[in-house]
Amino acid sequence: MELIYEKSRKGRRGIRFDALDVPEAAFPEEFRRKDDAALPEVSEFDVVRHYTNLSRRNFGVDSHFYPLGSCTMKYNPKMAEAVAGNEGFAHLHPHLSSSAAYWPNCQGAFQLMHDLERLLAEIAGMQEVSLQPIAGAHGELTGTLLMAAYHRAKGNTHKDTIIIPDSAHGTNPASAAIAGYKVLEVPSDRDGTIHLDAFQEVLTDKVAGLMLTCPNTHGLFESDVRKIADLAHEVDALLYYDGANLNAIMGRCRPGDLGFDVMHFNLHKTFATPHGMGGPGSGPVGVGERLAPYLPGPRLKKAGDSLEIHMPAKSIGRMAAFFGNFMMAVRAYAYIRQLGSEGLTEVSNHAVLNANYIHARLKEAYQPAFSKRFMHECVFTATPQTKHGVRALDLAKALLDYDLHAPTVYFPTTVKESMMIEPTETESKETLDRFCDVMLDLAKQAEKDSAALTEAPRRMPVGRLDEVRAAKELNCAF
Ligand SMILES: *Cc1c(COP(=O)(O)O)cnc(C)c1O
Repeated sequence: MELIYEKSRKGRRGIRFDALDVPEAAFPEEFRRKDDAALPEVSEFDVVRHYTNLSRRNFGVDSHFYPLGSCTMKYNPKMAEAVAGNEGFAHLHPHLSSSAAYWPNCQGAFQLMHDLERLLAEIAGMQEVSLQPIAGAHGELTGTLLMAAYHRAKGNTHKDTIIIPDSAHGTNPASAAIAGYKVLEVPSDRDGTIHLDAFQEVLTDKVAGLMLTCPNTHGLFESDVRKIADLAHEVDALLYYDGANLNAIMGRCRPGDLGFDVMHFNLHKTFATPHGMGGPGSGPVGVGERLAPYLPGPRLKKAGDSLEIHMPAKSIGRMAAFFGNFMMAVRAYAYIRQLGSEGLTEVSNHAVLNANYIHARLKEAYQPAFSKRFMHECVFTATPQTKHGVRALDLAKALLDYDLHAPTVYFPTTVKESMMIEPTETESKETLDRFCDVMLDLAKQAEKDSAALTEAPRRMPVGRLDEVRAAKELNCAF
């Protein structure tokens, strides 16, 4: 086993401190180190070269096509980074906002948050928005707690269940369960949308709400959504919209108009914050009239020419420190203002067009998982390829050798050998064509020389990893 991260050589150094020119402070013996700290001994150049080389092994949106379905790995314009880097935003400390003097610069940040809440509310057809939640899943938890607050206030103590389709993102049932609800799963029908009869069977007075994704994680628009909303509202069940991915519908339709009562947005998917690697996220929650009084606080409200912070009487309280991840709000604000309503509509038009272009080019070689029209992502199954001994995982690994990141594989779990491809709006026709050419070539290889695929990747620094071990033992080449 070769250690690739071990660069340290005894005595090598990257920094030399000046001789002490102040009196040495007395330092209690018990706090003194007995042994030297186990720090790597490396030169500055060792460090620069090491990290530069590692970064070149990485796949990222800035370097590679990254069609990871459900995750929306789209290009985030550098303009939004520049705006977020503005000193007036970057150097603000949230404690300034509660100082009696309200350092005047906080008003700009307040105004931005207030305006962004209004913009998101407009985009989604919601009445109010809170920017507090710091991830999509955190937005879901906030939303389900809001539903619970609504039912508590109405004395709906018998409502203990939330219905979730089997195609949902795994965070949906987790959030509902953490909020204290029982989760009832409803199956999809063969078309890939919610099974309406199965839904009606489980829709009783005990149901507090329903969590839907639309387009769902099969990439399909839930065409019965209005009917589902009406049925749910008849038993005073609320409708939650998982809006992690708004790329398909912005400017085309609004969850509020479809009948949804509460939703979250992932600013770190749709609205100009890079997504992935566990970086800071933002999952604002939008609500209709019924849930608005319960939104997390503090909220901002107009007081003359300025904005003030207050905690509304019925608020469920804080969901995050201060105002959530403010910098993501700055990026989203810049992005939305730059594109405007026409630009946002164009984003969703192109996202859907690009996914359908890929679908059209690949549908003979790979089997589409559903026959309905896909929206911003298309799902294939590699089941036909398994008769040649090639699985979705093999195709995913083979793509890496062509400098293409793999699509999402094995999710949605409802589709065997699934490959979920989301090209996003920012990719050019040339990039989409190159991806499709490679995919078509791989389909031919699968028939003729499947071993070449099952052994891929061959041109990457590492081949097939034991993925469990690789996540635990970072410091070795396999
Ligand atoms: C990404 C995603 C989520 C969760 O968002 P996080 O910010 O990762 O918590 C929820 N639902 C769907 C459909 C998603 O794609």
